[in-house]
Amino acid sequence: MNWSGSDLGYTFTNEKRLYQLKSSYQNIRSDITCIETHYQREGLASCYLLQEGESAALIDTGTPYTVATIMALLEQRGLRPEQIRYVIPTHVHLDHAGGAGQLMQRLPEARLVVHPFGARHMIDPTRLAAGATAVYGEEQFAEDFGELVAVDPERVIKAEDELTIDLNGRQLLCLDTPGHARHHICVWDRQSRGFFTGDTFGIAYQELTTARGPFMLLPSTPVQFDPVAWHTTLDRLMTFQPERMYLTHYCAIEHPETLVDSLHQAIDTYVEIAHACRTAEPRLPLLRQRLQELYLNQLRQHQCTLPAEEIERLLALDTELCAQGLDVWLSKAGTRY
Ligand SMILES: [Zn+2]
Repeated sequence: MNWSGSDLGYTFTNEKRLYQLKSSYQNIRSDITCIETHYQREGLASCYLLQEGESAALIDTGTPYTVATIMALLEQRGLRPEQIRYVIPTHVHLDHAGGAGQLMQRLPEARLVVHPFGARHMIDPTRLAAGATAVYGEEQFAEDFGELVAVDPERVIKAEDELTIDLNGRQLLCLDTPGHARHHICVWDRQSRGFFTGDTFGIAYQELTTARGPFMLLPSTPVQFDPVAWHTTLDRLMTFQPERMYLTHYCAIEHPETLVDSLHQAIDTYVEIAHACRTAEPRLPLLRQRLQELYLNQLRQHQCTLPAEEIERLLALDTELCAQGLDVWLSKAGTRY
């Protein structure tokens, strides 16, 4: 990524390119490519190609509509489909794993590496489709995800905590990382000293990055937001002393040690907001409003100069999902926290 050190930790060195992302691919290093998934809007969700010599892995998949973009990249790189050894959705939310079934059909030698709690949903995506339809509505589901394809159970590797997979000699360590979802793994790539974090290390849209660095947003997406587990997970990730995080939303960020505190803080703020709204009737609109105010205030402190309407537009989906997630959390567990 295009950061260099300063007192604040970051200097924006290539602002224009980030604001006008036109290519579907960003090379983070010669062996790691960030791929635009074309989910919802450009710059919202990415996935990654990791190459090690003759072999490669995909981390996250985007949606079924991302498959063509991924296959075009493989061709551009001179990679044959059978050289892709692993497809690794960080978790089974559909912006991360929706395209897994279609990809596996096209990549004959690939194994699907997925959290044990997510595996059955990849083998039989019926419940996944039903769950996403409940969150997004039928029409939106069809538009965003089309059809989910089942993965042959024989090709699935369940990533128990600390499973190491070998990509042509490169070790990739899978960690169980609850907080955002119980079926979430993060993948540690020691070689690049980076984690593929899915949603566990938050969201940082490039449009909201300022001279102060990335703006970190915590996705409390339904239905498994777990504040206590999330704090523990963040601490665990940092024990590896990562130098960068490969976020799904969006692309890579450097110096995670300067950003992790804002995520811890966000967990606590969400819990406070949720508790303050607990008895409101109806609750969801108030949660939505509180989050909208929170993001706008934080972005102004972050010296983001985008108009409020533009911020609202960029964060519309996250505001809705985070509010729903807190609402569900209050219904399930909020009284015990
Ligand atoms: Zn996501």
